[in-house]
Order: sequence, then structure tokens, then C-alpha cells
Amino acid sequence: MNTGNKKFSELGYKIIDLIQRDLQQSAVPESKTLNWSPPAEELEFWTRDFNAGEAIAAEDLFQQLLDHSIHLNNPGYMGHQVPPTAALTILTSALVAYLNNGMAVYEMGMAGNAMEQVVIRYFAECWGMPPTTTGIITSGGSLGNLTCLLAARTRYLARHPEAAYQQLAVMVSAEAHYSIERAFMVMGLPLEQIIRVETDAAYRLQLSDLPGKLQQARDNNLLVFALIGCACSTSTGSFDDLQALADFARAHDIWFHVDAAHGGATVFSEKYGHLLQGIGQADSVIMDFHKMMQVPSLSTLVLFQTPAHHRGTFQQHASYLWQDQDHELWYQSGKQTFECTKSMSVFHVYALLRLYGAEFFRQHIDRLYDTAAAFSDLLTAAADFELRCPPQSNIVCFRFIQPGSPPDSLNQFIVRELVRQGYFYVVSVQINGGFYIRTSIMNPRTSLDDFQGLIRSIRDIAGKFTNP
Ligand SMILES: *Cc1c(COP(=O)(O)O)cnc(C)c1O
Repeated sequence: MNTGNKKFSELGYKIIDLIQRDLQQSAVPESKTLNWSPPAEELEFWTRDFNAGEAIAAEDLFQQLLDHSIHLNNPGYMGHQVPPTAALTILTSALVAYLNNGMAVYEMGMAGNAMEQVVIRYFAECWGMPPTTTGIITSGGSLGNLTCLLAARTRYLARHPEAAYQQLAVMVSAEAHYSIERAFMVMGLPLEQIIRVETDAAYRLQLSDLPGKLQQARDNNLLVFALIGCACSTSTGSFDDLQALADFARAHDIWFHVDAAHGGATVFSEKYGHLLQGIGQADSVIMDFHKMMQVPSLSTLVLFQTPAHHRGTFQQHASYLWQDQDHELWYQSGKQTFECTKSMSVFHVYALLRLYGAEFFRQHIDRLYDTAAAFSDLLTAAADFELRCPPQSNIVCFRFIQPGSPPDSLNQFIVRELVRQGYFYVVSVQINGGFYIRTSIMNPRTSLDDFQGLIRSIRDIAGKFTNP
């Protein structure tokens, strides 16, 4: 099929209809979020399909995929931090796929490279970072965190050329995302040199522990090259005190990195924006557009307060890409990031901001965070539920309590059964060694009615629990 023929546009309309029908179906009360099937069955289904040999119409294949996938648009979807995407981005995705601009060199992404600069400046200003701020858009928060830690390392080693590489260390809250560990593994550094600072009752990094931990690290000849703030943490959605961390990092001449993968967009909210106080002083920040900004995965913003360090990290010569080897020009994005060919993912967020403005995101953040607060009130009022901590964002962790049932196995049973029933999708997390149900409210259509339904389902399921 080519895009010039009639079949292409006919199929295009059919696909849009399929998506629209699916969306409407998601809004029907008691519709399923997912039709869970065990991995072996799922694999068998697609193996059989692939080898069937008989022709299948494209729309039937697409429908089959819809039937076998989790529906983030269903209000019962309240699991991981992946959002239902803004409808507009279904269409921007088509254009991005059609253009397939590779971005690494200027001509392969003229508009995309320029749009990235516009978006970088926009967020630098929103967060109160200085006009020198530069950045890139990359594929995912994990890669973003690695990119920033590499830049921090580059600066440290440039200032301390005599440093023993294997002694490098970072400080971070005990609640940090596992991608920090992964970055450390990639960098060939021992995981024990991720110095984990305990958290307070609200799961924010315990500031009073910082000086002692740093002193202890230095006594052990460790070279702390970065301090990482969580905005917010993954398990409980807690925001570290970024201002205090920035002050501490500056006083001790340590690179300050903020992992705002989830919470960076909180800046749009007048009500909750204060949670990011201090982010503007970071040496580097990351934010996933594909979390709170309703953009399809993956699209991650990476900002640096001073340009030199990250560019130093990725400086390489490649005569088949760039004629000018020596100048670090903003529009040659391949010189600034891990990726060579990369997606023009910036177009999604650019289009949303250009067409709907910041107000769209202000409402979105307020709605999700407010819904989480209202849900936590419901849980607090229910004697048989235990809220882990009052939510600071749209992440709520709790567990069900039933006399005579061990809480861990009871709640494991509840999560498993909920997923099998398919009406609600929730996930779980270990906090202080205990098993908790974890919900992220990512769907603006999720309402208190849905949480009432969830509470009823949990009580029903718990009634069927038998002690192991
Ligand atoms: C989601 C998340 C990441 C990882 O981002 P990916 O885009 O999934 O790679 C890192 N840190 C935090 C705090 C996150 O919430």
C-alpha cells in the first residue's frame, strides 16, 4: 500500500474509527481495563496468528491488538505512571512517523532540532534555570539520568584529574528510582557507592542525615560527585526539599541533579508548584513528557545549567555525519546525546503547548493531584484501610487490613485478583519491608466513583482470602 492510493486513506479513517470506538467503550461503566491472559497463552495466541498463513484485513489485525492490550483510557486504569495520551498526540504520532526525521544532523530534523531548543528554553524558564541552560530531548528517564550522571562525572574528573575512578560515589534518597542504580552499573561503579540517605515520615530525603553521610563517605575515601533529588520519588510520589539539597550541594561543591521524571510538570500548577522550589538551581534536571504531560512514550527532557559538561561527554568525530567536527552547535543533536538517529518526539509536547497552552497542563495536574487527595481521604475514613502516607502528588499507597489475615499475603492476593478480574489495574510496592498497593492516578477521567468501586472490589476479594 502506498500513501497515494485510496486504500491508505480508507484504512486511515477505519483506524481512527476503531480508536474512537475503543475510547467510547472505555467510558462505559464496568468496562474492563484489561483482559488478563497468562504469558504462555498470550505467546501462543500471537505465534498462532503469525503463522496462520491466511490473509487478515489490517483493521482486524489492529482490533486484535486492541483486544489484547491494557486500556489506559479506562478510568479503572490506576497502575503505573504511564498516561493515557492526549488525543492530539495520536495524530502528531502519525506525522512524526510519516516524516521520520532522524534528528542527528541538522538537515535531518531542521524543524525538530529548532523545536527542541524552543521547548528547552521554555522549561528552563518555567523552572527558573539561568539563560545559559542547554539541553536535549532523549528517549526515557533512565537514559536521561545516565546522561546527567555522565556529565556530572565529566565535570568532576575534569576538576580532579588525579581522582581514583573506582572511588566515585553519589548521594540520593533511599526512595530513588532504580535507574540510578542502572546508570551506576553502566558506569562500572560499585553499587555500594550509591549512598542512600534515609527518608522522613513523608518519604522525603532526611536532610539532617546529609552532613553525616557525606562526612562518612569522605572518611571512607569516597569521592561524591553528585547529589540527586527526587521530584518526586517513584514509590510514594514524595518530593525532596530541592532548595535545601541545592544549598547543600553548592556549599560542598557537588553537582546537583534533579530526577523530575514524574513531577517536573508540577510547575504548571499554582496550587502544587511550590513542591519544586529550588529546582532552578540544579546543575541538571530530567523530566519525562510521557508521564504527566500525556505524550506517547518515550520523550524525555534533559537540561544542563552549564553546557560544557554534557557536550564533553559525547564529543566524538564522525566524518560521515558532520563536516564541522569541532563546533558544538545546538542544531547537531547527535553531538549532544547518546542517540544517533532519534525520534522527533518533541513535536508532541510542542503541539500540545502551542495549541492548548500551559493552562491545559495546569488543569491536568490539579485534577490528578486533587483526585489523589480525595481518594486518600476516602481511605483514611475507612477503618479497614491503611494509608501509607498522605499523597504529595498523584501516587497513593495503601493496604487492606483484615483481622487474622497476614497483611502481605492478603494484599498480594488482592492485587493478583484485581488484575485477573480486569476492571481495575493497580500495582504494588515494598515500603519499609511491607507490601503495599500502589495507585498512580494518570487518567483525568478517573473519579471518586471509580475509587468507591475499587474499595468495594477489594473488600469482596478480601472476603475470599484464605490464610496460606
Ligand atoms: C519513570 C521514572 C524514571 C524512569 O523513566 P523511564 O522513562 O521509564 O526510563 C526515572 N526516575 C523517576 C523518578 C521516574 O518516575
